[in-house]
Amino acid sequence: MRWALIGASTIARQYMIGAIRAEHGEISHVLSASAERARAFAAEHHISASATDLDTLLADPEIDAVYISTTNEKHLLQALAALHAGKHVLCEKPLALAVDHAVAMVRAAKKAGLVFATNHHLRCSGSHRAVRELIMSGRIGKVLSLRLHHAVFLPPHLQGWRISSPESGGGVIPDITVHDADVARFLLGEDPVSVVAQMTSSGLGNGVEDSAMSVWTMPSGAMVMSHESFTHPFAGSGLEVHGTQGSIFARDVMTQNPIGSVELVTGSGRQTIAFEQHDLYREGVRRFQAAVAGEGEPAATGLDGVKSLAVALAVRDAAERGVRIAVNYGD
Ligand code: NDP
Repeated sequence: MRWALIGASTIARQYMIGAIRAEHGEISHVLSASAERARAFAAEHHISASATDLDTLLADPEIDAVYISTTNEKHLLQALAALHAGKHVLCEKPLALAVDHAVAMVRAAKKAGLVFATNHHLRCSGSHRAVRELIMSGRIGKVLSLRLHHAVFLPPHLQGWRISSPESGGGVIPDITVHDADVARFLLGEDPVSVVAQMTSSGLGNGVEDSAMSVWTMPSGAMVMSHESFTHPFAGSGLEVHGTQGSIFARDVMTQNPIGSVELVTGSGRQTIAFEQHDLYREGVRRFQAAVAGEGEPAATGLDGVKSLAVALAVRDAAERGVRIAVNYGD
């Protein structure tokens, strides 16, 4: 499959170029707002063509799919243009800055008969799949609660638009709460109904929140507690799922890499759970390319991206207004 990268980004550089190539995708173009940055990025990553004009790039009939990893406010128009040009789209989270916009992207893909996926990598990890399997097979009985620990330290090279630009979709909620919303939906198989939340700026956020805590109501009655931050160097990440018959402790699993541990605790004692340690992003690309070939769905669909955004925006709304907010998933 022939790919174009829309966005000369860190995530493309660090993970996605390798993931696409490992799955035998060919990357023919990279697009940047800056001709110089596009050229340098293309040279650094052995990509044959660089571009600054999206429509010209999309007119190339040889391109099958685009991977969009620009700043968040650009995803909407770039995805719509790509879909209009007949390209399949793997889009970074958050899909957009508003739920209605994300819904419009999903609708455009459906109308065009194209694959449109969200790059939620955590549901591709062996650790999260192992936790889900424990829950779904009834090993912990009825789920009572899920605690998501995702307070990390934003590395200095990423301390740009994320901590200072509301216009670009900055803030920890569009950055990390969207991932946690997808994790909760993936693990529990249900969608949050309403949320209460608080947020703050604790040292890095300048005009946007850098920390958030929220509690989500699930249809089953399970309680979900979610904590995201850019300012916690030593907190470590993880998740815990507590049920009537057991608890699952997954440590260091809210991560881009296939690391961490999963432990099951029941009346019979403690048990380490083995899981597959494949590359998360490569698995996402594999599922995307298979979907384009007509085999199944992407790991996270466009609708999954709509729903994770809807939960995240409800969290911000709840924190701003100090009231419980019903999650609006759009029409
Ligand atoms: P970056 O800040 O690295 O890149 C975003 C954009 O910033 C690029 O498209 C580029 O614009 C511009 N840019 C990059 N370097 C410079 C520079 N030196 N000067 C000026 N502008 C520059 O962001 P990330 O890679 O961290 O994130 C990109 C997207 O990917 C976001 O939507 C984010 O939410 C998502 N993401 C997803 C992850 C996941 O695991 N699913 C992980 C990390 C990010 P241009 O293209 O015009 O050159």
